Amino acid sequence: MSRPSSPDVVVVGAGVAGLYQLHRLRDLGLSYRVFEAGSGIGGTWFWNRYPGARCDVESLEYSYSFSEELEQEWEWTERYPAQAEILEYVEHVAKRFDLDRDVELDTRVTSAVWDGERWAITTDRPETVSARYVIFATGCLSQPKEIDIAGLDSFRGNVWSTARWPHDGVDFTGRRVAVIGTGSSGVQSIPVIAQQAAELTVFQRTANYVLPARNAPLSPQAQQEQKANYRTLRRLARESPAGLLGVQGEASAMDATAEERHEVYEQAWKIGGLGALRRCYNDISLNLDANRTVSDYLRDKISSIVRDPETAAALAPSDHPFGTKRPCLGTGYFETYNLDHVRLVDLRTTPITTITAEGVRTADRLVEVDDLVLATGFDAMTGALLAVDIRGRHGLRLADAWAEGPTTYLGLQVAGFPNMFTITGPGSPSVLSNMMVSIEQHVDWISDCLARIDGHVIEASPEAQERWVAHVAEAADQTLMNRANSWYVGANVPGKPRVVMPYVGGVGRYREICDGVSAAGYEGFVLSGGSARERDHG
Ligand code: FAD
Ligand code: NAP
Repeated sequence: MSRPSSPDVVVVGAGVAGLYQLHRLRDLGLSYRVFEAGSGIGGTWFWNRYPGARCDVESLEYSYSFSEELEQEWEWTERYPAQAEILEYVEHVAKRFDLDRDVELDTRVTSAVWDGERWAITTDRPETVSARYVIFATGCLSQPKEIDIAGLDSFRGNVWSTARWPHDGVDFTGRRVAVIGTGSSGVQSIPVIAQQAAELTVFQRTANYVLPARNAPLSPQAQQEQKANYRTLRRLARESPAGLLGVQGEASAMDATAEERHEVYEQAWKIGGLGALRRCYNDISLNLDANRTVSDYLRDKISSIVRDPETAAALAPSDHPFGTKRPCLGTGYFETYNLDHVRLVDLRTTPITTITAEGVRTADRLVEVDDLVLATGFDAMTGALLAVDIRGRHGLRLADAWAEGPTTYLGLQVAGFPNMFTITGPGSPSVLSNMMVSIEQHVDWISDCLARIDGHVIEASPEAQERWVAHVAEAADQTLMNRANSWYVGANVPGKPRVVMPYVGGVGRYREICDGVSAAGYEGFVLSGGSARERDHG
């Protein structure tokens, strides 16, 4: 099939964001190319096939809302869909809307250079394509963090990364396995690996708050009820703080008695899910004392589940308030540490000194293993963008523009990089939300923008960007977000500038701001250059 060498738009990435963007571009009648580094579509759900991988947003909410027919015809099987089911869903969407034929797989974009009129996009094929616009749908959690543990190359066993799991799975039966990392990927995979492994040693650097998922089959009746109300539910999610359904408590945790709070938290614990505990009171993310009531409750839960007091103490988070690092959803996570063949190594007391040929050496012993599982996370939000050599006006490198941390206008554009858009970029709610809601909002905004500006150059003004960056920082300062060394602030990657990257103002408020900006004729953006019609017809 011949593809245009000078399309209107290049889309980088074919996860849920890139695929929906492709769908919208086709409707707009624009020409495009879509490049995907992987050998399949689906992004996150294509790469992260580790045992236990599952969404922690409910299936009926973690789905596209742009087609009512699609919403009605797709049947989910569980409260929280597993990786394979989401991938099947994404592949179904791609088939149904005939998207896959336009995705160029196994093609990584290596550079993007603005020549004053267009973007020269180079891939590893190698090929250079000239496009008027470039849209990075490269994902916030797609660039695995470079592993910073000495001696990894000398290990004689198998090394597996949760973020690059083999498609035909791994059989751990009878094997001695180590897992390094206890974020969401570790928390989901550890109980499942424990079911197979002969011995499992978990190396934990930071204990996390793990909430019960309470996953269960989804009854056809419950599904029908939700589908019958989908328009209202979708609207509520879009207007909510995190793109999720659920009623936000309006009272302060500090106005309740200890007994009342306990009862409320017990109910939330029984319901399970990411938002239930946070939504109990209105000040859990804002006030340290209010937050401590939840943190204490969760620490008590851990010691009530884990039998060995030393292990229970090590598993109890102590260095950050609840919610300032991404909480995890678990299924039987803490219970796993009651199994005889599972051990926890607390790296705060005995750090890893090196990996050897036989296994993991800590300050006080060598743990010999056959398999090493790295659940060590991502260079989040900026990693995939900075992996591409992006150069804007006058050769300005994105890496230099962001040397002090990412700066954007609305998380949609970067000053100095005309006609370049980022989907769920830093400075937007993105990773603090149900990403499906945020992705659709960004793709819709960008698509409407492209339709309206008719080929003009659009670029964030430095002043608008400066104001937005200040607003994002102020909003974060009103919360407890800066109190943890989380990937939200880049603290997981050595040398990464410390900046609260996502916008904490909430998806409802953020949507209003974006809509206001476009209604005001793209306030804060500078439009220049001729329209497509003027250029095409002289
Ligand atoms: P991605 O799915 O990351 O897709 C980006 C694509 O771009 C990838 O396929 C990548 O290969 C490609 N790409 C990157 N760079 C290049 C390049 N230079 N050239 C070509 N292609 C490139 N979010 C939630 O809301 N709820 C959840 O429960 C949830 N669970 C998650 C579980 C895991 C294990 C992970 C890692 C993330 C999870 N997320 C969750 C976040 C998730 O990333 C988003 O929900 C969503 O899938 C992101 O879609 P995307 O298309 O923006 O990015
Ligand atoms: P993560 O949350 O960043 O966790 C990485 C873990 O590895 C942390 O425990 C970290 O410890 C540890 N680690 C990193 N480098 C280490 C080192 N050199 N030595 C020892 N330990 C090290 O990454 P993730 O678990 O992949 O999750 C990332 C995000 O993806 C999540 O927060 C979530 O947004 C999303 N996700 C969601 C789900 C889901 O439930 N649906 C599942 C997976 C991922 P420190 O904390 O001390 O740095």
